[in-house]
Amino acid sequence: MSERLFYHLDESEMPDAWYNIQADFTDPMHPPLHPGTGQPIAAADMGPLFPQALIEQEMSQERWISIPGEVVDIYRLWRPAPLIRARALEKALDTPARIYFKYEGVSPTGSHKPNSAVAQAYYNKKEGVRRITTETGAGQWGSSLAFACNHFGLECLIYMVKVSYNQKPYRKNMMELFGARVVASPSTETDAGRKILSETPDSPGSLGIAISEAVEMAVKDEHTKYSLGSVLNFVVLHQTIIGLETEKQLALAGEKPDVLLASFGGGSNFGGFVLPFVNRKIKGESMRIVAVEPAACPTLTRGVFAYDFGDAIGMTPLMPMHTLGHDFIPSPIHAGGLRYHGAAPIISHALNQNLIEAVALKQNDCFASAALFAKVQGIIPAPESTHAVHGAMREALRCREEGKSEVIVFNLSGHGHLDMSAYDAFLQGKLGDGEMSDAELQKNLAAVRKI
Ligand SMILES: *Cc1c(COP(=O)(O)O)cnc(C)c1O
Repeated sequence: MSERLFYHLDESEMPDAWYNIQADFTDPMHPPLHPGTGQPIAAADMGPLFPQALIEQEMSQERWISIPGEVVDIYRLWRPAPLIRARALEKALDTPARIYFKYEGVSPTGSHKPNSAVAQAYYNKKEGVRRITTETGAGQWGSSLAFACNHFGLECLIYMVKVSYNQKPYRKNMMELFGARVVASPSTETDAGRKILSETPDSPGSLGIAISEAVEMAVKDEHTKYSLGSVLNFVVLHQTIIGLETEKQLALAGEKPDVLLASFGGGSNFGGFVLPFVNRKIKGESMRIVAVEPAACPTLTRGVFAYDFGDAIGMTPLMPMHTLGHDFIPSPIHAGGLRYHGAAPIISHALNQNLIEAVALKQNDCFASAALFAKVQGIIPAPESTHAVHGAMREALRCREEGKSEVIVFNLSGHGHLDMSAYDAFLQGKLGDGEMSDAELQKNLAAVRKI
């Protein structure tokens, strides 16, 4: 076994195609439905929102979709991203497990999000779109899309969830620096925002509400299209560059993973990281693949599999997914990127097929593990990523108890340099867990149509 810590790929070894798991699922996924007719949606229904190339990717059954050269050129600003052996953490935990993490915090915005933002901006530009609208929670997606739009000369309008807008002013500055306009959501600029504000004037906002606002603006203007940072098949597709690189790097390390973990919001970093391995599992390899979600928003562990809207108001197609109900507003935990009521249909399907498992962890425990990780490895995880760190550390401690030298690999989806207010709250003992009660869960699920 080599004693190396870093597993770097050469630029020329960067994967040149994204991986589409739909080609390898043994049972097909349920189709998204038109909310009016209840019939499977047609490509044309999505035309007002997305460029044709992305709609094709959303529905594609092709196994490999090649990455355009212009996208590769921008990926090369930070990719391939490193895979790192967390030896210092292994030592601190006194575990016989070998722990590796893929580090997506090396991107321009400090997370995995530009992997899809760059691709989406590219296809929009190619089809003559002038402006892209989007939502953002903690600001990771908004800053990534702002970065990508600036590269391709597109205007960018971002609805930022109000609680995050107030918690994370530097993210807003970053988006503005890249040339975007940022509006706190719910806002008075859209019908959706005004409706929410008239009912709940002090609404902290949610990703679902911000999506409604961004979608409305795209539908109202023919030169504007909408962009989503997670959940959709094509977003998960773009993120598979993470897992494809990780596969090559684990081969360099001579390792075969026993457990893979990533934090779970809408499912893009998790899916991007694990889907190439899910395929190996479908083909008969054995390994555990674990999504780590917050106890405050336990979509996969406590939600139902249903047809539900992707946004709060009910403007999107009905998606077959695990959901907590589209009008659920999670408590304002600091992992803003994990505060989403639904799960990517691809990941929901993988869960239904028992190809993956899920666990819900509390915010304070996640931050405590992240604090240890920061001390020994020197990287401060993004609040979202603390969930993957804590999940991986629990597995490492299990290995210690069981005396097993398993290979644990997790995705460190981003760094937390712009989220220090969350660590400040943690250090002052002011961080809540926001765990969801059963009463709240039942109330939210009452209106959801189970499949
Ligand atoms: C947005 C975000 C997430 C969660 O989103 P997914 O679509 O589930 O990946 C996780 N980590 C970081 C750092 C993020 O910015």
